Amino acid sequence: MADQLSQLLLGVEVVPGEVDKWIWKVGGLQFFTVSSAYNLIRKDNEVVSSPVFCKLWGSKAIPSVGLLAWRVLENKLATKVNLSRRGVQLESLWCVFCGKEEESGSHLFFGCSFAWRVWCLCYRWLGILFVSHIEPKLNFDQFRLSFSSETGLVVWNTIWVGVVSEIWSHRNRLIFKGGVADVSEVFALVQVKVWSWVSTNFRSVSFSYSDWCLEPMECMRVVY
Ligand SMILES: [Zn+2]
Repeated sequence: MADQLSQLLLGVEVVPGEVDKWIWKVGGLQFFTVSSAYNLIRKDNEVVSSPVFCKLWGSKAIPSVGLLAWRVLENKLATKVNLSRRGVQLESLWCVFCGKEEESGSHLFFGCSFAWRVWCLCYRWLGILFVSHIEPKLNFDQFRLSFSSETGLVVWNTIWVGVVSEIWSHRNRLIFKGGVADVSEVFALVQVKVWSWVSTNFRSVSFSYSDWCLEPMECMRVVY
């Protein structure tokens, strides 16, 4: 380890009096932007050619949320189990929602009883029955429905992205700010955010937010 570090530092020029800083080398800006990371991932042929990732990149979520969903699919999110594997010492690995299992990505988003209740509200809203797979890529791949238009399918995929992103946001709120896990709040935010992404991206959207909440399938059929 020390030898490797020495090798890495060989090419580093130390400037006395200058404070160390992180530099993001992608895009030539020297600072991180979500769009540069998003473009970097999109350029990865292996990632782009996979049908699951094609589904993901076609969604209409904002880029930062698309990136988060990609990290869910690739198990690259900083879940407690992943942090522990990277050597980070944590007080506990238990899931903040149920406290019964370790917080892996598959548990947090699909296996946890809290996540399951969020998905159930979503399925009930959409009027579907769905057998949810615990493995993220399989779950996303199986979350499908036939639509006459490609646009309806894009909105459908965006709902999945919205659910995983809101579960992650809720988990972060509980860990860093405290509070009580609230299934209804997560579901309501999914409805609001997906509607806002869709209505921003498709000029053809003629349905209101209340239409979206009451008749989501009809809205997806008419969007183009
Ligand atoms: Zn749990």
